[in-house]
This record gives sequence, C-alpha cells and structure tokens, in this order.
Amino acid sequence: MDSFDTELQQRLLAIREQGLLRELRRVDSPQGPRLIIGGRELLNFSSNDYLGLANHPALKEAAIRAVEKFGAGAGASRLICGSLSPHHELEETLAAFKGTQAALTFATGSAAALGTIPALVGKGDTIITDKLIHACIVDAARLSGAQIRIFAHNDLNDLESILKSADNTRNSGLGTRSSSKTLIVTESVFSMDGDHAPLADIVALKDKHGAWLMVDEAHATGLYGPNRRGLVEEHGVSHRIEIQMGTLGKALGGSGGYICGSRPLVDFLVNRARSFIFSTAPVPAAAAAATTGIQLVQSSAGEKLCETLWTNFADFQSPIGDRQSPSRSAIIPIIIGDETAATAVAAQLREQNIFIPAIRYPTVARGAARLRVTLTAAHSTDDITKLTHALKTLDMGL
Ligand SMILES: *Cc1c(COP(=O)(O)O)cnc(C)c1O
Repeated sequence: MDSFDTELQQRLLAIREQGLLRELRRVDSPQGPRLIIGGRELLNFSSNDYLGLANHPALKEAAIRAVEKFGAGAGASRLICGSLSPHHELEETLAAFKGTQAALTFATGSAAALGTIPALVGKGDTIITDKLIHACIVDAARLSGAQIRIFAHNDLNDLESILKSADNTRNSGLGTRSSSKTLIVTESVFSMDGDHAPLADIVALKDKHGAWLMVDEAHATGLYGPNRRGLVEEHGVSHRIEIQMGTLGKALGGSGGYICGSRPLVDFLVNRARSFIFSTAPVPAAAAAATTGIQLVQSSAGEKLCETLWTNFADFQSPIGDRQSPSRSAIIPIIIGDETAATAVAAQLREQNIFIPAIRYPTVARGAARLRVTLTAAHSTDDITKLTHALKTLDMGL
C-alpha cells in the first residue's frame, strides 16, 4: 500500500512540475453569477449555465415535485425496472424542441457519446473528427474500434481529402467490409474556443461522400436559431444531420445527455448503446428539471434570457483588443500560452474576487493555456463592466 501511494505521489509531483495540477475548489453556494468560495463572494465567469437556469425557481420546483411524486432514485436501468414517465416526458419535449422524430436521454452527455458512437460504428469503419473535438468523443471513438482520422480544426479541405482517401480505401476493397461506414463528428460551437463549425459545408461534404454526421451541440443548444434549438437550426441543416447530441447540463440548466434524430436511430440505441442499457436511469428529478429547462428556453422568457446573454457578449471588451474568437458565443478564450502563467493570472483574478478557470493541457493543447471566460444571462451589466476592468488591470504579458 505504501509503495502504491508513493508511486501516485511521484506522478502528482510530475503533474505539478508541469504546471498542470488540478484541484477541486469547494463552493458553498448554488451555481450563479456569484459563488461563495472560502467564505468569500466571487464573481463567476466559469460556468456553462449560460442562461442562468441551474438555480432557476421553475427548475427547482419541477425537481422537488418529481421527488415528491416519483421518489429520489430510479431503481435500475430503464430496460429493467420500467421506464419512469418523467424520462418519457423529457424525451417527447426534447424531440419536439429539436424538431426531430425522437430523442433518447442518458445520464450525461459523455455517456451519450460513449454509448452512441460504438453502437453505430466499429472495426472496419472510419470516424473522422475535428482536431478540437471534446474528450468524450475521442474516448467514444477509441472505444468503438473504428479507424480514427482527424481533420485540422474547421478545415474543409482537410476533411474532404480524408473523405476521399476513405472512399478510395473502400472502393479498392482494402476496407475489411465493403459496407464500411464513415462517421464525421464535430461540435457546432467549440467548447474551449467558442468558434463555430461551418455546418452547411460539412453537411454538403458528408452527403457527397455518403458519410454520416454527428453534431455535438453542447454549447449551442438553447442559444442559437429562431427557436433556440442550436446552431444546426441557425444554419438550417437540422433535418440533414443523422445524429444530434448534446447535454442537458449547460444552457438547459439540468443534467443528463441526449441524442436526437430519427425513430430508427433511437430504437437502435435502446438496443445497442451500452451506456444506456447497463446504467441506472437518471433520477426522476433530473429529468423533470431538464424538461422544465427546455420549456423555459422555448418560452418568451427564454428568448429574453438569450437576448440578455448576447447583450452581455456585446458589452464585454476583451483585454486583447480584437477578440480571438470573433464568433458570437458565450465562451471567450483569452489565450495565455504558458500553463504556469495562466494559473498565475487566474489566481490574480481570484484576488480581485473574480473566478475564471485557467484551462490547460490536456483540455487544450500544450502551450495553449488560456482563461476561459463564460458569460451568462444572469450577469448584470455591472458584472460585465467589472470583468472588463479586472482583465485590463492584469499583467498578462499580452
Ligand atoms: C460538456 C460537454 C459534453 C459532455 O456533457 P456532460 O453532460 O457534461 O457529460 C460533451 N461535449 C461537449 C462539447 C461538452 O462541452
């Protein structure tokens, strides 16, 4: 036992020496624009609760009612002990919101990816992902056993050349199966950069090459398009995407993951997605809160919240002049580069009672450490002014 701990301590030391040590910071308040950490109130620009729904009275009320009616736990996998009605209501609400035939929910967005990708593709197939795709997609792709190809971030030429080479492999019979599939996976709004994928062009390419497309809308659902369905709605390509995935835990204010698409897709995943089949259903309160989150996003109140978020985005002035991410997004990266320097800047900001995480490897590439500022609809104009000023006073060597 001693040698086990010694080994791990050495590994931790190596992580610390690279400026990459991560530690949990205890928060004694709900998520919101202000957090209580260590007895102090900090202005919070770290959360993905983009519309301020995580602590919204309507979501809390829905969760409480679900606990009273359906209890605290879910008992087993939905295929084993019966599938509770809050999960069905959530999936019906979600499919109607997204304008798809059907939806399936999972315990988390990560679980949705880990269950779905290996169900759809495997050995002999090819997965093509954007270089900056989220870790859960990378893990799911590895788990699937399919060949993984990576295209340069948002680079359509690179994507097309990989698609062509996958076509050639298939046509020459080098693929292990003549029926081999190609799945392209991209995020619509990228989690650490806030920029947008060229979805219409990617859809055109996947059609041209007979590939399937999965779009992760984790940072777009609730924020874009006339009905706030996501960036696929804003780009008008919703009905041309085979698999839409996302999380209920960001703008929607709850927790859980989802897949939206055709009825055959959902029926197939119920049979083949291992993270769905072999996992206890999410608690009924989580489903009920997410349902209310979606309803709120669809309402005029949701429209107002979204407008407030974009007003905050317009008001915020980045310390680096031109934004590194010109796209309209709640995520604004301030690239610092060096890992230790980024951590030091985040610590300086905490001294000024502002909480912004330093994002480092392996979440982003080595030498691309950054402050990841996230704005929400719950921030006031005054909060945004304070943020702008605090960032201007810092010595970031920018
Ligand atoms: C957060 C996130 C996920 C995972 O969703 P969870 O519900 O947090 O597990 C998936 N993809 C992207 C791009 C994300 O940012």
